[in-house]
Amino acid sequence: MDLGLTGRTVLVTGASSGVGLATARMLLAEGANVAACARDVTKLEAALDGPPGNLHLGACDVLDDRAVQRFVERSAEVFGGLDGVVNNAGRSLMARWDDTGEQQWREELDLKIFSVLHVLRAARPWLRESDAASVVNVNAILARQPEGRLAATSAARAALLNLTKTLSGDLAEEGVRVNSVCLGLIDTGQWRDRYERSGSALDFAAWSAELAADRGIPLGRLGTAEEVAFPVLTLLSPRASYLTGTAIDVGGGVARSL
Ligand code: NDP
Repeated sequence: MDLGLTGRTVLVTGASSGVGLATARMLLAEGANVAACARDVTKLEAALDGPPGNLHLGACDVLDDRAVQRFVERSAEVFGGLDGVVNNAGRSLMARWDDTGEQQWREELDLKIFSVLHVLRAARPWLRESDAASVVNVNAILARQPEGRLAATSAARAALLNLTKTLSGDLAEEGVRVNSVCLGLIDTGQWRDRYERSGSALDFAAWSAELAADRGIPLGRLGTAEEVAFPVLTLLSPRASYLTGTAIDVGGGVARSL
């Protein structure tokens, strides 16, 4: 099926690795124009290439409102508008609530909320002009299924899920759909780093299989970034025209809620 993304312009934050990179690559393969950012532009340029006319790369920290404004404006100028945004940039904080300092709580909330608000405020005038605008917020199953070892991240993700619902209602009249993709455990840089830090004698495959068993993932493994990119593209597609305010879980069945 043709997703109808050819010639459409999508901005992806955090595109130098993992989910953002897989999403940007899949969009380019579908013939979309991609504006992609990360803080480390050298790493981004090394990771992502594509037809020069279809790809615009920039250094941008999503927590820096002015830098976001500049990147979004430049991207819209380069491609003559914007049809979609994937708010993906981020990380998680592995710490229990009583091991999380006050500044860390604030940083988690800042990252989850302002990484979305900064981009959306800047992109809104262009999204309004699109005939099929779609925003996808990359979130986590933690938003509805908190984990004690990720206390601040879980709470901040719940706040983002809640905000995404509000945005979907408020922007519907402007023709902008807003949805979430909620991830379980996905094999990206974040988990490779944790594996390296664990000092485990196992190879990554065996270590991640143990992790999947420990976390009770019915499909018995971590997901891949490509397995997240596909539902992201589905939500971006003009064919998903009646989907807004929804959240798709991508967790191999780990979510317990109905
Ligand atoms: P990666 O660590 O592989 O990639 C993160 C990307 O975000 C990088 O491109 C990084 O580049 C960029 N980034 C981080 N902070 C900022 C910032 N302040 N401004 C701009 N870019 C930034 O992450 P994943 O692909 O694993 O995760 C993607 C999203 O999914 C994240 O929001 C993550 O928290 C979430 N998630 C991931 C899960 C998983 O299991 N992998 C589970 C649940 C949620 P640079 O450092 O150069 O800026």
